[in-house]
Amino acid sequence: MRIMLLGPPGAGKGTQGKKLVEKYGIPWIATGDILREAVSKGTKLGVEAKSYMDKGELVPDSLVEGIIKSRLEEDDCKNGFILDGFPRNLAQSQSLDDYLEARGEKLDAVINIRVEDDVLVQRVSGRLVCPKCGRNYHLVTSPPNRDGVCECGGKLFSRDDDNPGTVRARLEVYSSETAPLIDYYKEKKILHEVDGTGGPEEVFKRICGIIDSLPLEGAGG
Ligand code: AMP
Repeated sequence: MRIMLLGPPGAGKGTQGKKLVEKYGIPWIATGDILREAVSKGTKLGVEAKSYMDKGELVPDSLVEGIIKSRLEEDDCKNGFILDGFPRNLAQSQSLDDYLEARGEKLDAVINIRVEDDVLVQRVSGRLVCPKCGRNYHLVTSPPNRDGVCECGGKLFSRDDDNPGTVRARLEVYSSETAPLIDYYKEKKILHEVDGTGGPEEVFKRICGIIDSLPLEGAGG
């Protein structure tokens, strides 16, 4: 089962991705997380990516496509994967399609999580992330029990690009670069729209409803 989660920053792709891993047992691959890890380790990729990420711009395709393709070669992707944050423009979509086609594979579904802009801004400003388990909190709507500390004990942080100015830039990049993917996948008849408002459990049920009704080939898809 090869799924891609599409949606603007704050739509809940990461939250849903983690829940899908638990239910379907296939890996969740988030380019933003891979890039943030590279930045925090100070690798060559991280140093190059950081200047784009800090401005809310897309990191060059060549860098991102390389990391995704090597990740997809790993053993745990044999029975499928959940992509989050890739592809993010038409060139990346085409490149992914070509890559999968060469392996005799294709995406089974693209799930577009729709949320209004004002809700997105409210969700992203105030977001707290756990570096240890990846869980997200919100200062107002879902604060941690202990200030600044995750349930797992991790020390929560705010992403550098979750400040109001960068969030606006990311939303603009989403509408100019990423939103055209909606029509691209609609034409391929694999696009599924999901209402991303409400609590994580509600949205998760909607997404599982779609996945469970997909006509998948063979066991495990
Ligand atoms: P995210 O965690 O998905 O919000 O991504 C954070 C940042 O990482 C984005 O604002 C981009 O700068 C960069 N990024 C993540 N995925 C991609 C991608 N597929 N192509 C280019 N840049 C990306």
